[in-house]
Amino acid sequence: MTCPGYQKLCKRSREVYLLRSIAGVLSWDLETYLPSKAVPYRADQLGYLEAKAHALFTEPWVGDWLEESEQFNFGQDSEQAANVREWRRSYNRATKIPVSLVEEFEKTRTVAREAWVGARAESRFSQFEPYLEKIVELTRRKADFWGFVESPYDALIEEYEPGITAREVKQILEELRGALVDLLREIPAESVPENFLDGHYPIPGQQALSREVAAAFGYDLAAGRIDTTVHPFATNLGPFDQRITTRYDEQRFEVCLYGIMHETGHALYEQGLSTSRVGLPSGEAVSLGIHESQSRLWENHVGRTAKFWHLWYPKACPHLPDLGRYSVTELVKGVQRVGPSFIRVEADEVTYDLHVLLRFDLELALIEGRLKVKDLPEAWNSRFQELFGLVVPDDRRGVLQDSHWSLGAIGYFPTYTLGNLNAAQLMFAAEKQVPGLSDQLAQGHYQPLLDWLRDNIHQHGRRYLPAELMRRATGQTTQTRYRIAYLRDKYLG
Ligand SMILES: [Zn+2]
Repeated sequence: MTCPGYQKLCKRSREVYLLRSIAGVLSWDLETYLPSKAVPYRADQLGYLEAKAHALFTEPWVGDWLEESEQFNFGQDSEQAANVREWRRSYNRATKIPVSLVEEFEKTRTVAREAWVGARAESRFSQFEPYLEKIVELTRRKADFWGFVESPYDALIEEYEPGITAREVKQILEELRGALVDLLREIPAESVPENFLDGHYPIPGQQALSREVAAAFGYDLAAGRIDTTVHPFATNLGPFDQRITTRYDEQRFEVCLYGIMHETGHALYEQGLSTSRVGLPSGEAVSLGIHESQSRLWENHVGRTAKFWHLWYPKACPHLPDLGRYSVTELVKGVQRVGPSFIRVEADEVTYDLHVLLRFDLELALIEGRLKVKDLPEAWNSRFQELFGLVVPDDRRGVLQDSHWSLGAIGYFPTYTLGNLNAAQLMFAAEKQVPGLSDQLAQGHYQPLLDWLRDNIHQHGRRYLPAELMRRATGQTTQTRYRIAYLRDKYLG
């Protein structure tokens, strides 16, 4: 017995996905190769496609098919029931936003991103300010349309991490802040100096090494590619097309190498989704907090370790001869260096979540109307000094460093911390469940870990909500204690 409404939903869902994957290619091109004069028309193209996708998914009969599917008995816990649940959630959110607002938002964020690139290059927030004002205003309108009980932020974070609230995020971050501040006090001061690993690392060598590492972790380069952007990212453009980007610093090999490990973690998740379920919720990544757990796991739990460097040192030196100036022990100390710094994406593991806390507090205040956009740089700088004890020298290394706000992604930052927590918790579970995992990783056998992630996370798509997915994989919903224990063990040893 089949449900015709469900079949129609599958077809429509795949059509919407097709449109969005086309938009994805245009966005990727916008980030990588598009000439700057072509940006306004690209904004029109993306606005048009997103409006089309939105309209296709919000037609009244989609609601009828949903109701028909909801009355059909697919069996509790079945994949079909999960698809229907997820379509309902997306449909309810999408139908609350007028198409005109969707289109305006898309156009605004495309030109805002371009303004951000210019403002960041010149380190002048005032150039970006009017665009951010518009973004905050439109985002707040979206939150009002979606509705919320306690904070408009709840309506926004739901987009990235279904099922969590601003209040819960605040609690997690406060819990972490206490533990991290304690840990920072306890870490011995005789750690290596800043820029300890600086040298001359030619870009071709960095490219070759990072490609080799990405492939060793399991990234299928025949279904992906690596390009250069201002702000590195991973994107899924359809079946067998999971691309990543990076940036290079000839003085600092870590920017590219650890950036690639990170984005590879994202791409591995996307490459582990079911290709037969493309365009259906069960074939999509479940949340950003789960996504980020995959990138953090490969970057930090696998890559930022003594185990990794004992194996990779002899392979890395021919690509980057300047590494030969260090012993393996020194190299490990260098990549595990802890200290306050300005740039989030280059922050060490211990201070990283403090960067997230700063952004969360500020965007929460912006969206709740307690902070004005024009006062943002000052608020950023004073809070930064409070948390890190450093004076922010300019907007480029302060409020302008991340692209998220220019892209209209308010409510996104907490997912980085959730990712860190989930990574530690998943690694703890994998170590218990996979026999000899630690030895396997030391020998460069990454497949058993990848297999465990495929089985416990990747293959499920959006079948379970993030909290339930974590519970099934690790026995518990997301906790702070695994990350705290991991950091204490690694940095106080
Ligand atoms: Zn990431």
